Amino acid sequence: MTTITNKREKIESRRDSISKEEKQYILSKTHRRCAHCGQKLTIDSEKYTTDHFIPISKSGTNQTENLVPLCYDCNQLKGDYIVHPEDFYKHVSTHYMRELNDLYKEYCSKYKWATKTNYTKATLMSVSYLIPVRSLESHKRRGGNNYAGMELEAYLFKATADDVDDIVDFVAQYNQEHDWESDKSDVRNIVNGIMKDGCIYIIKRKGEFIGAIPMQIDTWNFKDIKLYGLRFCGLPFKYKKWYYKYLLYNVIITLIEDIITNVGGSLPLMIGYPVKDDFINELITNIFDTEPELCEDDKTLHAFIPLRLSSTNRGNGYHDDAPVTPKDARESSDMLQKLFDLTPINQNAVKEHGN
Ligand SMILES: [Zn+2]
Repeated sequence: MTTITNKREKIESRRDSISKEEKQYILSKTHRRCAHCGQKLTIDSEKYTTDHFIPISKSGTNQTENLVPLCYDCNQLKGDYIVHPEDFYKHVSTHYMRELNDLYKEYCSKYKWATKTNYTKATLMSVSYLIPVRSLESHKRRGGNNYAGMELEAYLFKATADDVDDIVDFVAQYNQEHDWESDKSDVRNIVNGIMKDGCIYIIKRKGEFIGAIPMQIDTWNFKDIKLYGLRFCGLPFKYKKWYYKYLLYNVIITLIEDIITNVGGSLPLMIGYPVKDDFINELITNIFDTEPELCEDDKTLHAFIPLRLSSTNRGNGYHDDAPVTPKDARESSDMLQKLFDLTPINQNAVKEHGN
């Protein structure tokens, strides 16, 4: 006869052996839906899977607190990534969301998640963006200033070593399409370099690789003070559709919002990109409302974006147009330095060596 203890031990030892009773309990967390996409599920349907919120490979357990129902497709999407529970599990009821948030906090506090090659706690993030659709009715009535929006969703994945080949192929193809000299081994060296002292986020929509965002912590001058800030280095997108600017904008906001939560009220932010790219040029001019500046090497345009973000009003217009003051920028720079254990910038040494 199997005792309860034995039964538990068996469950703990094999990740797939979750009892029917447990599955029923897990499904009740979402009122019998996929926690991400919301489609109806039963424990007997082929689509039903049990997701480990904190993956087994990242110290997660088989305890029911850590288990969430997902349909097969959504589980494939999530894989071994860490997600922000409220961002990814949209159909989990309040009580169980609290449990997940507690697990998330515990996970984040156990590990030094912020390193020079990891800027965000979640390694998979969803990014929704509106495509404005002009309403014919309002166009007739009010001169076309009213827009209805169609909401689309893309995903940001923090790249690992396994993704390097895909990124190299993507960037090489992008360069080719823009008639830029593109030696694949050079591209590989650059990609590996960024992965070594920064990180790359891959943007996918419906499983298709549509963009990559390389980021590094960098130093530069802002109003005569030397700062640490976040640099987006080149922003390739597969399609040159105008609405991708809005996606890109939301991608940038999503990434820095995660860091801002730990850094403070503002963040010195820089976008560096190839000088020929009108698409990016337009993005910076129109969306961030700032004039790009030409860098010293004449090959790259740099735009310093004095963006002030507040983590306190998330999801409710969380950026405003107030410019970052030198004091804001200095404080954020100091926080970034602490967060990432960076070597302090010695202003005198910089002056003395004319560097
Ligand atoms: Zn689903």
